[in-house]
Amino acid sequence: MAESIPSHLLLAFGKRPDIVSTMTKQQVDVTNHSRISELGQRVLNGGSITREEALFLFNLEAASDIFGLMSWANRIREHYKGNKIHLCSIINAKAGNCSENCSFCAQSSFYQTGSPKYGFVDPKPLLEAAEEADNHNVTALGIVAAWRGLNEGPMLDEVCERIRDLKAKGKVRPDASLGLIKSQKVADRLKEAGLECYGHNLESSRNYFPFHCTTHTYEDRLQTIKYLKNAGIKICSGGIIGMGESREDRCDLAFELKEIGANVVPITILNPIKGTPFENYPPLPPMEILKTIACFRFILPRQEIMIAGGRTINLRDMQSMIFTAGASALMVGNYLTTLNQPVEKDLQMIKDLGLDPNWDHNFEDQEPNWQPIELKNAQPVTA
Ligand code: SF4
Repeated sequence: MAESIPSHLLLAFGKRPDIVSTMTKQQVDVTNHSRISELGQRVLNGGSITREEALFLFNLEAASDIFGLMSWANRIREHYKGNKIHLCSIINAKAGNCSENCSFCAQSSFYQTGSPKYGFVDPKPLLEAAEEADNHNVTALGIVAAWRGLNEGPMLDEVCERIRDLKAKGKVRPDASLGLIKSQKVADRLKEAGLECYGHNLESSRNYFPFHCTTHTYEDRLQTIKYLKNAGIKICSGGIIGMGESREDRCDLAFELKEIGANVVPITILNPIKGTPFENYPPLPPMEILKTIACFRFILPRQEIMIAGGRTINLRDMQSMIFTAGASALMVGNYLTTLNQPVEKDLQMIKDLGLDPNWDHNFEDQEPNWQPIELKNAQPVTA
């Protein structure tokens, strides 16, 4: 199969993308075992792995190797994160009718999905959501809006007002995910209002991005992140796996997130939505998902790696293994357009593993020597 042809284009011609087998009859490869250990030990000692070394990990096939990889990822998580788990929840503050054409999204106006549509939320439901989040030990509540982005004007004033409301309540950390930021001034206003962390996924590698979105560019997203970082706002940025991207794309995404200095890295596993171009995508095998989480932990040892949407449907009984694969954060409560398992069940799962949802770190522990990187490829946001 030609590597450059993305799987969803093959689907369009009636072919099924390769399903990566993770259960082979291979015997334990001692060479792999010692190479995984060498890389794991290096990361534990404060070192980092190269892209080539990471690709070796992403391409592991044998279950014994993947379990070995996860064991090291778990140790790395424990070493840098202890037993604390960072919990986040979100509120869909403006739903549906989005002008963008992201192929995985139920809220895009390009697709008929039957997803709810409403305008920007009133203060009351937001404060109630904050109360509920706090009652469940959730650290942060993200205000999420389905639109292209934020300009200066009355909408920005309203958003800032809601952030101030949440901040004044003092229950949870007010986060937001409000699309593309059009100027430094907008980011500065959000910071002044009390915003601490902004969610803005890169979604996939630079190479794969145009295969799931053409109404804005990867560079638009990088420029938004640059404005936010300049304003002193922490970055929550990750991606979606299972969209037909290659392992190389996943590897490149992880390195891109390292370069931008993402503080929280949400990994969503595609939950195909009826009516979107990705509705018939085959699910990723659970072991492939766990391996991807472990590889991200090797590349991003100090970051909060958060598992977000799609975990219940894709991992089923293997959900709790996300932590032993290196995840240190969890999105709880319902997602934007799909349901999650009850938060009580998630809290029980965390407790049963001897983990603690009372997150008390701050993001300063992540990259003590990290210097802001000039985003080489960032361009002005397209109109
Ligand atoms: S992912 Fe965000 S920007 Fe893309 S269509 Fe959905 S709501 Fe709009």
